[in-house]
Amino acid sequence: MRFSTQAIHAGQPPDPSTGAIMTPVYLSSTFVQQAPGQHKGYDYGRTANPTRSALEANIAALEDGAYGLAFASGLAAESAVLQSLSSGDHVVCGQDLYGGTYRLMTKVFARFGIEVSFVDATSLDAVRAALRPNTKIIWLETPSNPLLTVCDIAAIAQLAHERAQGIKLVVDNTFASPYLQQPLRLGADIVVHSTTKYLGGHSDVIGGALVVKDEALYQALKFLQNAVGAVPGPLDCFLVLRGIKTLAVRMRQHCENALQLARHLAAHPEVRQVAYPGLTSSPHHALASRQMRAYGGMISLELQGGVERNLRFTTQTRLFALAESLGGVESLIGLPTLMTHASIPAEQRQQAGLPDAMVRLSVGLEDIEDLTEDLDRAITASRQG
Ligand SMILES: *Cc1c(COP(=O)(O)O)cnc(C)c1O
Repeated sequence: MRFSTQAIHAGQPPDPSTGAIMTPVYLSSTFVQQAPGQHKGYDYGRTANPTRSALEANIAALEDGAYGLAFASGLAAESAVLQSLSSGDHVVCGQDLYGGTYRLMTKVFARFGIEVSFVDATSLDAVRAALRPNTKIIWLETPSNPLLTVCDIAAIAQLAHERAQGIKLVVDNTFASPYLQQPLRLGADIVVHSTTKYLGGHSDVIGGALVVKDEALYQALKFLQNAVGAVPGPLDCFLVLRGIKTLAVRMRQHCENALQLARHLAAHPEVRQVAYPGLTSSPHHALASRQMRAYGGMISLELQGGVERNLRFTTQTRLFALAESLGGVESLIGLPTLMTHASIPAEQRQQAGLPDAMVRLSVGLEDIEDLTEDLDRAITASRQG
């Protein structure tokens, strides 16, 4: 089956007992056993739940993986990966990344003896130079958040796997979604998702997921999912499953709207810079064209006039709502250094090349004329304080 067909059907045959075409929401914490340890695949709701199983099978199919694991949030999914490490292990991580991931690594797992180095993952040499004998994971976001840089998944996978120490490549595929990019096909070992974003797609649920191909890796992560217990509820799983059914059509429109807006903004005299891998002027365009089906729905930009003006801009839009998060049907605007990335210290942000004035757009599915007019009006309105 092809992508859109899988999005609608994978893991979700009609309910055998009733014929219900939608996966039932199994609000049951426990399941009756025929004899101790003998059951129909479900014993206790933390270990497994049928609605969750449907979601896990579905996401695994979309990522061209063999196994999916659903979590209560993107950060819970990330935590399970990091919990597979031991004190003294080392992670090499792309330096432009979601603030919550940075915080999780530096404020939580660092206390348990996990070492992290942040590098410019667009440079293969920088990634190679950061590897140590105790490196166990290379962690990438591509396109990255919020600078929308693109790194070469296949080349970094090769780098990871040529070392004898068994380095795993983890790719956070939240920004691209499996419709635009399938990291496991390019050699990644683990795909991470915040299903809160494009997979859910309607800003109504918090969730996370992991997808792998390797059976032993799956068993290790499944053990952690059950032993630590950061699992999503059945209703949350249902909401993500329902969102995924329209993932392909939504992504096509997100990408089309974002490309048009990025071109419009890049030609605007009051716009200082636009980061969007779909622009032919982007240094990441060639690699993105090789690695991705299209360029996504996220744009970062900076207006002329510094932080003050860009701050005003974020409060002058009417359609673009000032809010954290991304990937929903409605357009959002935010200032990463004060919002999604506030947990990254200023010094680290500067090293990663994240300007304080950078504005991030999550381009929704509204009519492109309305989105363009909204930004144009807000650019004009933000001229004066
Ligand atoms: C939002 C986000 C996360 C964290 O996911 P939650 O569902 O908010 O826990 C991780 N990575 C990226 C790229 C994100 O955008």
